[in-house]
Amino acid sequence: MTDPVLATHNLSKSFGALTATDDVTLDLRAGEIHAVIGPNGAGKSTLIAQICGGLTPDRGRIEFLGRDVTQEPTRLRARAGLGRTFQISALAMEDSVLQNVMLGALGAMGRPWQFLRPALKDDALRDRAEAALARVGLTDARAKRTAELSHGQRRQLEVAVALSLQPKAFVMDEPMAGLGSEGSKQLTGFLDSLRADAPILLVEHDMDAVFALADRISVLVYGKVIETGTVAEIRASKAVRDAYLGG
Ligand code: ADP
Ligand code: MG
Repeated sequence: MTDPVLATHNLSKSFGALTATDDVTLDLRAGEIHAVIGPNGAGKSTLIAQICGGLTPDRGRIEFLGRDVTQEPTRLRARAGLGRTFQISALAMEDSVLQNVMLGALGAMGRPWQFLRPALKDDALRDRAEAALARVGLTDARAKRTAELSHGQRRQLEVAVALSLQPKAFVMDEPMAGLGSEGSKQLTGFLDSLRADAPILLVEHDMDAVFALADRISVLVYGKVIETGTVAEIRASKAVRDAYLGG
């Protein structure tokens, strides 16, 4: 087996007396979608925040492309190719769709804000942003105000921001949240095609999407990974049924 693209080793993080992630060890391999599921409050977003650099773990380490990035700031991880989307939208609603891709990509890499607006004239950046919009099917909407997009289109736009950085791995926190069944189906199809670009660590509540997409699933309960396995293994697991899938 080739080395994983992304791995956490014994990642632990507490908030006061509450252990939000407890010894979490998992990895993301080339070409795969690895879903992380678990009840509300299980520590999924806390895990993602540590992987992306928003939170520093109390213990454990994170490896990305064979490098220990545990102490590295978010922007350096983004520059190294860690592409992410957020549970709560980070888009600027008054900016155009195209501007959001260009500014979002630069912002993720830590470009200081005074250099953001001038960069809208950067042709190479614009080309990358246009290509990302084409990839998610938003070319026709590129001049619209972002506020005019449907919820599903905003989710696609967030993926385009991540995609324009040409990432080596995607980390997504509940991309299906708030989408209707039609929107979820569309995004599911798109994420399926995205795994050809880079593997995806996918935190998701929508079990139809998870079962359709995941090569492997890790189940997080009270901060601990209680099981990692294929869809069939997770569906058959008594421990998972008892702790999460319910009956
Ligand atoms: P999930 O994404 O699985 O719903 P979270 O990672 O958001 O779970 O939260 C895990 C636990 O940690 C929850 O009990 C939550 O209330 C708590 N928590 C998350 N962030 C903080 C914080 N910044 N300060 C204190 N407690 C937090
Ligand atoms: Mg969460």
